[in-house]
Amino acid sequence: HAKAEPGSAWRFFERAMAEELNDRRLMEHDLRAAAALGELFMVYQPQACARTGRIQGFEALIRWRRGGDLVSPATFIPIAEECGAISAIGEWALRRVCGDAASWTNPLYVAVNVSPVQLLDTGFVELLHALLLETGLPPTRLEVEITETALIRDFLRTLTALRRLKALGVRIAMDDFGTGYSSLSNLRAFPFDKIKIDRSFVSGLDQNGQSAAIVRSVIGLGRGLGLPVTAEGVETESELSVLREEGCEGVQGYHIGRPAPIETFEDLTRPGAAAPSCALASVA
Ligand code: C2E
Ligand code: MG
Ligand code: MG
Ligand code: MG
Repeated sequence: HAKAEPGSAWRFFERAMAEELNDRRLMEHDLRAAAALGELFMVYQPQACARTGRIQGFEALIRWRRGGDLVSPATFIPIAEECGAISAIGEWALRRVCGDAASWTNPLYVAVNVSPVQLLDTGFVELLHALLLETGLPPTRLEVEITETALIRDFLRTLTALRRLKALGVRIAMDDFGTGYSSLSNLRAFPFDKIKIDRSFVSGLDQNGQSAAIVRSVIGLGRGLGLPVTAEGVETESELSVLREEGCEGVQGYHIGRPAPIETFEDLTRPGAAAPSCALASVA
């Protein structure tokens, strides 16, 4: 038994473990309180038509200001999923996003990320339905993004939930396509309306032949299946022009616009703001 071994190394290890556990417990505790404390907020990232450059909608991305620090969703969402806080956080995000989008006088769509844990919550579809009615957002303006890894958790329950979501009239996008498992069978089995190519294939595709080949294949796959493809993580004009040449429908990334509070995009969400004010505005 390791405890039998005396010495400072073990005690150091033990203390480090205890500290880590403590940090984790504290984070879980803080996460449960975050929504009520007003520490959560949403930022919005524009999605454009690759051909015309027109902004067609936004993806909503959650942010957590914990004390003075901004914690990345890549860090806190998995923890929220494990400790169960995701249901309340997800509900907060959905209500905020539907409410925001319902107030835009320019009826652009909004995409929201839904965790697999949240999707499989009993009553999730009823909750979303109630939120749509409460906020007055037409379901056709809402897109739900599900990551591919979500799909392997519980095939039948996921399929049922997605079918019921679709029956509400919302669209469903497969997020981070290419990074999960058995992508191709998932595309056939689940009722997706859109494919989002993971950023890892888009980054540097103008210089990397393998990335370019994968992106080209996914665009072809989407075409064959009748599903529009959006590329995420477009950072340069050169990546954008390759995507446009390959016939990718949608683009999202720092080159088009960074995620920002919705007020930043007021000229897009309000009427009389016909001219998009982003890098793509000049693209014919
Ligand atoms: P995602 O849904 O794939 O979102 C795209 C991520 O890529 C975002 O990171 C976005 O800020 C980042 N991104 C966009 N364009 C670029 C680019 O050109 N270059 C680079 N390097 N990055 C770019 P973010 O906001 O940190 O979110 C990370 C992940 O956290 C999201 O990945 C999503 O899976 C999850 N997430 C975010 N918001 C929510 C939420 O409200 N609910 C749930 N369940 N998950 C969320
Ligand atoms: Mg997403
Ligand atoms: Mg993604
Ligand atoms: Mg991602």
